[in-house]
Amino acid sequence: MNVLQRLGRPAMSGPHPVRKILTVVLVFNVALGMAFSVIGLRRQAGDRAKVQNQLIEQMSAVNAVRAEMWKSIDQGSVTPNLAGLDLNNFGRDGLGQPVDTGRLAQQLGSFTAIVTSVRSRLDAGQVAVARAEGAGLAPNATALLGTLQALSDEHQRQSDRANTTADVETVVLMLFAAAMGLVLFRRVMITRINSDVRAAQAKARAEATFGSLVRHSSDLISIVDVEFELRYLTPSVQSILGYPPGELVGRSLLDIVHPDDRLRLLAAHDALLDGADLVPTTVRMQSAEGTWRYMESLHNDLRQNADVNGVAITSRDVTERIALEEQLRHSAFHDDLTGLANRALFSDRVEHALSRRYDVRTPPAVVFFDLDDFKAVNDSLGHHIGDQLLQVIAQRLEYGVRPSDTAARLGGDEFAVLIEDLHPDDCLSLLHRLQQDLRQPVLLAGRELSMRASIGVAYAGAGDASTLLANADLAMYAVKAGGKDAVMQFTPTMAEHAVRRLQLKTELHAAIEHGQIVAFFQPTVDLATGRMSGFEALARWLHPSRGLIPPLEFIPIAEQTGQIVEIGRQVLRQACRALAGWHQRHPDYGDLTVAVNLSARELDEPDLLKIVADALRESGLAADRLTLEVTESLLVRDPELAVRQLTAVRKLGVQVAIDDFGTGYSSLNYLEQLPVDIVKIDKTFIDRLTGGDRNVMVETITQLGTALGLRTVAEGIENDLQAGLLRDMGCDVGQGFLFYRPVPGSEIDALFQPSDVSHVA
Ligand code: C2E
Ligand code: CA
Ligand code: CA
Repeated sequence: MNVLQRLGRPAMSGPHPVRKILTVVLVFNVALGMAFSVIGLRRQAGDRAKVQNQLIEQMSAVNAVRAEMWKSIDQGSVTPNLAGLDLNNFGRDGLGQPVDTGRLAQQLGSFTAIVTSVRSRLDAGQVAVARAEGAGLAPNATALLGTLQALSDEHQRQSDRANTTADVETVVLMLFAAAMGLVLFRRVMITRINSDVRAAQAKARAEATFGSLVRHSSDLISIVDVEFELRYLTPSVQSILGYPPGELVGRSLLDIVHPDDRLRLLAAHDALLDGADLVPTTVRMQSAEGTWRYMESLHNDLRQNADVNGVAITSRDVTERIALEEQLRHSAFHDDLTGLANRALFSDRVEHALSRRYDVRTPPAVVFFDLDDFKAVNDSLGHHIGDQLLQVIAQRLEYGVRPSDTAARLGGDEFAVLIEDLHPDDCLSLLHRLQQDLRQPVLLAGRELSMRASIGVAYAGAGDASTLLANADLAMYAVKAGGKDAVMQFTPTMAEHAVRRLQLKTELHAAIEHGQIVAFFQPTVDLATGRMSGFEALARWLHPSRGLIPPLEFIPIAEQTGQIVEIGRQVLRQACRALAGWHQRHPDYGDLTVAVNLSARELDEPDLLKIVADALRESGLAADRLTLEVTESLLVRDPELAVRQLTAVRKLGVQVAIDDFGTGYSSLNYLEQLPVDIVKIDKTFIDRLTGGDRNVMVETITQLGTALGLRTVAEGIENDLQAGLLRDMGCDVGQGFLFYRPVPGSEIDALFQPSDVSHVA
């Protein structure tokens, strides 16, 4: 049974307060009245007793006078004394109330009259007369004494009555006082009990909350004394730190705290002793298994609390959160994939390097690396392999530079290195060595991949960090535009080129609208006969003020913006129309074909088939006279789509060529599965055909192509030696400056001769 039930909730019941006060006032008035009455009664009883005494004194006086009188009468000489018979007091009683004095006065009057008469008789010597008169004295005195006795008795009774009443009232008053005392005591007790109850309730509530917290929360609550001795731990210590409950009790908390964090704990308790309310800490605690867990705690000084009498530490395991935070902090400045510094950290380092005093002979150098054709790896082998390759590259960069240098991944296949305190000459040799490192083949997914990089470097000069970064980027871009796989140092003309690129970008739209993009044609020759066999259509921008702009300057821009689709359509229409015209004008050359390049964006174009079909219909060109060139990487990027699109155009009769073969990543065996008719061996392989050295790669491609029933075309033939070697290898078609350069369509007519059997130098 709880305290409240026992008390019947006294605090909440009982009369209305005003009624209660009135009752108390009334009861006090009655008690006061009683008290006065008791005083009155007591005085009345006292007065009656006094009167009674007087009456008794008067009775004895009457007896004395009578006896005196008798003695005087007997001796005839004595004068009786009547002083004791004072009647004044008989008029009123002790309470000021009149008493029955009529009879008494009359009896006293006759008694004194007889006494006076007898005295005067004796004084006169008339003893006998005195004796005779004195005989009347006895009944008179008896009557007087009777009256006095009756009065005395009456006073006695009245005094007794008053005393009894007073006694009763006194008892009542005492009872009242006792009752009041009781009420007062009860009131005090109730108040005390109420506050105890409230405190108990609050405590119960707190205990309930505390209890449920302790039981249900995953937090660890431990209580330590000022010496850090563990006095209590919640059972959650088992699930959090792996200790059986009770095992740590009696040990020092410091025992399981990481040595480096102990000071922090001591400081927290110092702060508590200095009067701080709650002190938070995060320290590592050792689990039973020996691992360190980050525990976030709140220290609460409860030494004054009798139930706790110590410092309560509420702790929570935040290891995962801290690990995540650390990871976030790290990834804010590092590249997740490679662990290298990211762009933010790199820029910061560059800024720092520039703000430092450095020797002008060894200025900080920023190097940008852009992997050549990395997109093709990603596209052909998948992102997973691409990522692995990036990790290898990152490792090689990191090991290739000195520890004091900063290697970073800026995004995608773009890396950067900050090199400090190195002479530009040494820097260049370092970069060439890095270039060689990067080229070392990597074995991934059963393939040997060799990566090349376009490397641009810029040295700190007048500009700020962002200028330095931009310059390195421009140098890198210049390498890319100039054929990739090289190291270039920033020069101011590169900035001019960048400006030019931006201008071209803004002008390209109008150029396409106004027909400034025109197809040039580079004839190809049959290597066995030397006869012209066809053309490759190559786009040119005929800029009204800048003159002829090569495709490498604007095709990448157009690919970015998507304008390549429209350019491609225009080149295709021009090519089809031109060839149809030549066929018409030179019937001997009816077997000549034209090849048109397709970009990735164009291969993605859902309308591709329609665009091709429209161009053929408009021009009237036979479909089998048109070849579409796609690069190898483009084919394997999204093989399904590529195969679908190319299969569709092939159904029209159009031929498909793989361009730049050998630079991509598809295997030779893969060729068989692709919907292609022609393989174009990349110029880089042809370039290596020198001094009679038979190039195995070119020969293999040629042989395989022939075996698969594909025509082989060699690109970029610049000398007779190459042409001869290729012819000997069995390569079908040649294309290169040795035979023809790309020229406007209008110049092609002049090339046709009735019997063209030898090449034009
Ligand atoms: P590509 O398809 O590999 O074209 C062959 C490139 O090699 C042409 O460069 C051509 O002029 C050049 N070339 C031919 N023979 C020799 C030689 O003996 N020595 C040297 N050094 N170069 C030779 P061009 O015309 O500058 O075109 C460059 C690239 O631009 C093309 O490479 C092609 O990828 C792209 N391109 C050109 N026109 C178009 C187009 O209409 N559409 C698309 N998507 N790309 C185009
Ligand atoms: Ca081509
Ligand atoms: Ca090519």
